[in-house]
Amino acid sequence: MTCPECDARNKTSIVYLRNTKRTDLGFSASKPGTGGPHLHDPNMLTEQYECTNGHRFKKDMRTACPKCTYGHEEPVVTILTPRHKYKPGMVE
Ligand SMILES: [Zn+2]
Ligand SMILES: [Zn+2]
Repeated sequence: MTCPECDARNKTSIVYLRNTKRTDLGFSASKPGTGGPHLHDPNMLTEQYECTNGHRFKKDMRTACPKCTYGHEEPVVTILTPRHKYKPGMVE
């Protein structure tokens, strides 16, 4: 795991996982068919990271279905406000 902002600036840093969140939408697996049920979980898992240079970013991803391509997309990376500009109580 590397920091996308440090990558862009050719810096090195260590990235820490700060937080994980998951939406809470109910879902159920489809009826078992040939080879078992599909798992099309609509919930998004968000992992929030911070690097040792104070950059903050998050990744949004889904749980991958073992039976088809659902949820196999690359995680979406979003750059967040860096630590030195972050104010307590800011909503992200
Ligand atoms: Zn960084
Ligand atoms: Zn599927």
